[in-house]
Amino acid sequence: MHAIISDVHANLEALETVLSDIRRRHIEDIIFLGDAIGYGPDPIDSLRLLRDNSSLMIRGNHDQAILTPGLLDSFNEYARMALEWTAYNLDEGCIEIIKGMPLKAERNIYGMDIFFVHGSPKEPEKWHYILTLSDVDMNLHYFDGNICFVGHSHQPFIVEKKKTGEIIVHTKGEMVIDLQSRYIINAGSVGQPRDMDPRACYVILDNERISFVRLSYDIKKTQKKMKEAGLPAYLIDRLERGA
Ligand code: ZN
Repeated sequence: MHAIISDVHANLEALETVLSDIRRRHIEDIIFLGDAIGYGPDPIDSLRLLRDNSSLMIRGNHDQAILTPGLLDSFNEYARMALEWTAYNLDEGCIEIIKGMPLKAERNIYGMDIFFVHGSPKEPEKWHYILTLSDVDMNLHYFDGNICFVGHSHQPFIVEKKKTGEIIVHTKGEMVIDLQSRYIINAGSVGQPRDMDPRACYVILDNERISFVRLSYDIKKTQKKMKEAGLPAYLIDRLERGA
């Protein structure tokens, strides 16, 4: 079994909750889709824990902003404030971890070619969001193989394109992969969900079965640390709204 996790955003309580669920299920492999940091109060511990537990760490736009400060202008003011705080509080070891994170990767798992990227397979370095069915349809041209996993929007989804051209949006948290179809799957966010469900989100890939897992964690504890760190109130509040 493989776990695909994304957008931790320095939320250690959410990450620890997800990792212990993964251990409890005896899942042997973790793939991380980027944005280890930004927004949350525990960038160092989150980055180290991800490094120690994942077999692959893809780079997200918040991670990239630590290496490329010019990118800060592309963020909204809350994200930018949190990233400035993060940059100030990271250590050299963390910078090295981020430098080692690729923008994209491909792996063969259970005989399927699977592509991993934070934003979009089309131009990983431009941090596009995949938000609409036409975004999905267009991005299907930019990877080979059966499945592309993304993160970035913090909104979990499974979209399937059948061999016939038909497009299906899977709304249940579970699905069996049709090897004749192609998919883009958003793994949601561990540390800052935005689909009106504040629980941490991740995906399990077990042979041809995909399932989303949602887990409650100690949001109050994360919020308290954010407050103590002086992070923006807007970011503190949105955790419990899941928005
Ligand atoms: Zn993110």
